[in-house]
Amino acid sequence: MRATLIYGAGDVRIEDVPDPVLREPTDAVVRVVRSCICGSDLWPYGSRPATRDGDRIGHEFLGVVEDVGREVSGLAAGDLVLAPFVWADNTCDFCREGLQTSCRHGGLWARDGIDGGQGEAVRVPQAQGTLVKLPAGEDSALLPSLLALSDVFPTGHHCAVTAGVGPRTTVTVIGDGAVGLSAVLAAKRLGADRIILMGRHKDRTDLGREFGATDVVSERGEEGVERVRELTGGDGTHTVLECVGLKPAIESAFAVVRDGGTVSRVGAPQYPEVPAGFGVFMRNITLTGGVAPARAYIDELLPDVLDGRVEPGKVFDRTVTLDQVPDGYQAMADRSALKVLIQP
Ligand SMILES: [Zn+2]
Repeated sequence: MRATLIYGAGDVRIEDVPDPVLREPTDAVVRVVRSCICGSDLWPYGSRPATRDGDRIGHEFLGVVEDVGREVSGLAAGDLVLAPFVWADNTCDFCREGLQTSCRHGGLWARDGIDGGQGEAVRVPQAQGTLVKLPAGEDSALLPSLLALSDVFPTGHHCAVTAGVGPRTTVTVIGDGAVGLSAVLAAKRLGADRIILMGRHKDRTDLGREFGATDVVSERGEEGVERVRELTGGDGTHTVLECVGLKPAIESAFAVVRDGGTVSRVGAPQYPEVPAGFGVFMRNITLTGGVAPARAYIDELLPDVLDGRVEPGKVFDRTVTLDQVPDGYQAMADRSALKVLIQP
């Protein structure tokens, strides 16, 4: 079969790899129907040192079960299933607490001999705990929004949930990438009626408005902070959802949060230290967020996707075949695409 491998910065190739087979009785083999490129894939695409051997890549996919190990129950060949971006047994103490990203028997895709999702098929470890059976067919028009449940929408949702977003909280979302827009959609779904989106790409912030943003601030840095403060009577918002991961974004987050409020970050931080000194202390700001346990949220979010109440799949603005995946990476890196869907 064919799959995507990354060899170094800017070097993504489609190559023949061995077909996946069951290795453990808890495995399943899934034929990939849709996959996609994540903003976090752009970090290795931008900076991975070149190596002689490539690594599999991709951690968001849905597909059809081809085979299951003897210890997997509740799944059978032919089922359409969704994989969250971290695999987990869904039974250990962390999983029972809804923190499948810390599963004692789980891990990341495309690491340590585990397959990546950007290919024709995947060996899924801990299949019974990891995979979610979807009540849809592989020709469903809902596939993009169902695929968004693998990572980007639960990540936006996690940001809003950990920040404590609800009907009485005002919200600032920092970042108009796919996660930021998903955070807007999640905040709206949780009842927030004032959602300020900080982003400067009009086509993206337009989708943000469609998802529920009430105000868009396109200015950056101090000017952007000033604008959010103007919009909120000088106070800032109760919650700030930081969906970028760069230092200026977390600095802006502390600058636009209301005293006593909460900053949640789900952008993978590309800075070693959080700038939360004496000033932040004196204002009683809470910092929360982290990697999203997508598996914990899928059961709650899936019904809303199935009946069309939310359409998180609107973040996909380009579809490529497996052969075109290198172009997809380039398009996301140069920001001509927001998020790229892969139809192998
Ligand atoms: Zn677990």
